[in-house]
This record gives sequence, C-alpha cells and structure tokens, in this order.
Amino acid sequence: MANQHGIERCADCKKENVIFKCSGCTRHFCLEHLNKHNSEHVAQLDGIVDERNAIYEILLNQRKNIEQHHLFERINQWEKKSIEKITRTANEIRQTLVQRLKESLHSMEIQLKKIIDDLEQLRTTNEFNEIHIHQFNETLNRLKKTT
Ligand SMILES: [Zn+2]
Ligand SMILES: [Zn+2]
Repeated sequence: MANQHGIERCADCKKENVIFKCSGCTRHFCLEHLNKHNSEHVAQLDGIVDERNAIYEILLNQRKNIEQHHLFERINQWEKKSIEKITRTANEIRQTLVQRLKESLHSMEIQLKKIIDDLEQLRTTNEFNEIHIHQFNETLNRLKKTT
C-alpha cells in the first residue's frame, strides 16, 4: 500500500521499513512479514501434500478392496432386478403355455369322443365305406400330429 509520498508500507505492520513485494499476490511486506508470508506459502504447500497423501491413501485402499467398489453394488442390483424380471416373464409364459396346452388337450378329447360316437353310429346303421374309413384315419393322423 503506497502512502501519499509514494512510499510503500508493509501490508502487515504498516511500517515503512525496507519493503519487498510478493510477486504472487503483489502485496508489499517488510522483511519480517515477508518471511511470515513465505512461511504461509510453505504451510499451504504442506496442506497440499497432506491432501494428496489422503487421496493416495484412498486410492491404495480402493485398489486393495477393488471388489468393494460402490459400482459393484450397482451391477449387483441391476443383475438381481434383471433376473427377477426374467423369472417373472418366464413364469407368465409358463402359465400361458399350461393354459394353451389344457385347451388343446380338451379340444382333442372332444374330437376323440366324437369319433367313438360316429363309429357307433356307423356300426349301428351299417352304412360306411372307404370314404368314411379314410376320413377317420385323416382325423386320427391330424390329432396324432398335434400331440
Ligand atoms: Zn511488516
Ligand atoms: Zn504473496
């Protein structure tokens, strides 16, 4: 800080002793307070070293316990949810399949019963020929294929 005569004063003690300028912050200091100012820089540097070491410590710890990284938990959650979803869908499809198969078997049962009735009918009337035999065989072959 310059006074009215253009002489710099120490930013700390305001004295007009021999004055030095810090090229970092451009403030002026007497020798005593320049030294104090420098020791602040050194302390700041030490702080940076401490912080760097703390981060390095975290790094070493993470490398040692790499499978405990929090991203693994996210993968595990995703895996669990995906499996649950697949299992749920598979169960739904299985239930649908059971329903369809039951319907198909029921339909076959009805058709097989009808064949017995028709055969009984033909036997009673005694009116049948190769065409009837062929039709029965066709129906039976078709039913066999759906089983
Ligand atoms: Zn001073
Ligand atoms: Zn400075």
